[in-house]
Amino acid sequence: MDDVWKVLAGNLAAVALIVSIWTHLSYRFYHLPPKLRCAGLGVTMGLAAIASMLLSVRFDVGVIFDLRLAIIESAAVFGGPGAALITAIMAAGFRLYLGGAGVAPGLTAIALVFVLGSSLWFFAGRKPLSNAPSILSAAVLAGCLSITVLALLPQADFQRAVDQVGLPIVVLNFATTAAIGFFLAYFRRFTLERDILYAALTQAPDYHYVKDLKHRFVVANLNVARHNGRMRSSEMVGLTDYDLAPKERAEQLMAAEADVMRTGQALDHFEEFLIEEDKPPRWYSTSKVPLKNRQGDMVGLAGVTVDITEKKLLEQELRSSRNIMAQAMAEMSDGLAMFGPDGNIVFCNDRYRELFPKSAYARKEGAHITDIVRATVRNGERKDLPIDLDEESIQAAAKTLFINKDEVIPLADGRWLSLRTRVTEDRHVLALVSDITAMKESELSLKSFAEQMKGLAETDALTGLANRRSFDDGLQREFEAAKQTGRPLSVLLIDVDRFKAYNDRYGHLPGDVCLKSVAAAIATGVRRSGDITARFGGEEFAVLLPNTDGDMAIAIAEKIRTSIRKLSILHEDSEYGIVTVSVGATVFTPLASIGDPTELVERADLALYQAKNAGRNCVRFHRLADDYARDFA
Ligand code: GH3
Ligand code: MG
Ligand code: MG
Repeated sequence: MDDVWKVLAGNLAAVALIVSIWTHLSYRFYHLPPKLRCAGLGVTMGLAAIASMLLSVRFDVGVIFDLRLAIIESAAVFGGPGAALITAIMAAGFRLYLGGAGVAPGLTAIALVFVLGSSLWFFAGRKPLSNAPSILSAAVLAGCLSITVLALLPQADFQRAVDQVGLPIVVLNFATTAAIGFFLAYFRRFTLERDILYAALTQAPDYHYVKDLKHRFVVANLNVARHNGRMRSSEMVGLTDYDLAPKERAEQLMAAEADVMRTGQALDHFEEFLIEEDKPPRWYSTSKVPLKNRQGDMVGLAGVTVDITEKKLLEQELRSSRNIMAQAMAEMSDGLAMFGPDGNIVFCNDRYRELFPKSAYARKEGAHITDIVRATVRNGERKDLPIDLDEESIQAAAKTLFINKDEVIPLADGRWLSLRTRVTEDRHVLALVSDITAMKESELSLKSFAEQMKGLAETDALTGLANRRSFDDGLQREFEAAKQTGRPLSVLLIDVDRFKAYNDRYGHLPGDVCLKSVAAAIATGVRRSGDITARFGGEEFAVLLPNTDGDMAIAIAEKIRTSIRKLSILHEDSEYGIVTVSVGATVFTPLASIGDPTELVERADLALYQAKNAGRNCVRFHRLADDYARDFA
């Protein structure tokens, strides 16, 4: 009885050995098509079945017991009907070759287990059984089958067979199927994992490789292989840099790798510019890490090299355009600053700082606009921002950075700056500052020149009083205003008496001097702002007195006449012995029915004429409303 156990256990060991050899071989032939691998499993299982039959338990002459049923079933449930068919044919052939009384039931059992195993394959979805419950179920089926087929023996032998080999046959068929199942499943999973890792490594982008302690490639991806003129990753295995690169380069690479493996220090992003024959020069970045096994022993290194040529070229381009930009900015005659959306300076040129010498220290990259404004204010740099400006106003001024504007800034040192700010779409601000002092100065002098010219155009050169044109403009303006407001408007016309005679006796230049004195006296008598004292022409003067009624006008006229007399300018050809004037006065009131201001002058002229006729050195008034004149001596 013990012999049966021993023989069948030996039988199991032989089967396990053959299956183990197969699993190792199958990894080697992993690249073959699945059908061929399936056939391989079938043949292996066939050989295992034959080995099992060679190590069988002899029950009777020609009747043997072994583990072939478990093997054929395993071929079916783990390899499919194709594999099982090969196994079954090999097993059946060998059983026929052995011959004997048990041939018929033996062949029947082989056929039966083939059919059942194949059915199970289809039942499991045409996939090898791989999880523990399904493997154990198949093992149980094998055990049951092995006892069931004993019924194929003649009735007399059946009971004896059950008694003698029943238990070991059931147990070892079960054990064989379970062992083959777990072994194949484990190995399938192991193969799959290794396959994925290998695929990941060989198909990874960039250049990946693993080397052993002797610098031999253990694995290299396709990019490494192709870079070295190989078609497949596997062609790289076992090669060293001496096989791939010139001696000098290989030595250099190996020395670096030896360092990594000796010190255990990784080589991190080591950049190289390589010029290879017949290829455009390229930049590479290489990292190499030492590899240690689970015991902590150095076993090799893993390397990855990335082609960084594009990145390097971009960097170079960026650097050179930055240099060009920096140079252009440095040579600009204007100040330029760019602020980020947060209000901090992103960049600015030297000129920008030079234009604001007192706050230059605050105008640097990273500085915030509020600090810049504060520095400008506290140093009294801008004339338009008082040095004691409160913090709230400083904050408000800083906020205006984000508004498009063109400003002219007066600086305390007398310079003028133009500041233009433009906000970009992404909320950056470009500030362009130009020194416009020269322009501003010429603008200011032009302005004052224009004002002077205007003054000259409105002033009489000899007397400094308003000229005739200016008087006419004033008359027109005040006439309209009087009509609007209903206030009276008075006009005086003053003529120097016997002035022709004065010229004739004393000469033209003394005549001019006399006219100046008369003009000054008239101007002194007309003090109210809004009054206009003008030289009307020759030795005639006119005075426009807004908001002045007739009585007041007469009083002023009289005052003027008296003041000139009081000058006591000698005039021997005058009946009075001194220079005197005659004055014609008139007033416009809302009651008067005149529509044209020249009429007012005509009326005053009429009054003047009357004054001349009345003996000169007197005032005559022409009242428009009732058209009568009043005499003043
Ligand atoms: P009256 O007005 O009293 O009737 O006598 P008149 O001599 O002043 O008369 P008229 O108006 O005819 O003479 C004006 C003179 O004033 C003529 C001219 O010689 C003189 N005159 C006019 N303009 C100027 C001037 O700008 N300078 C000088 N020196 N004399 C001037
Ligand atoms: Mg005159
Ligand atoms: Mg005169």
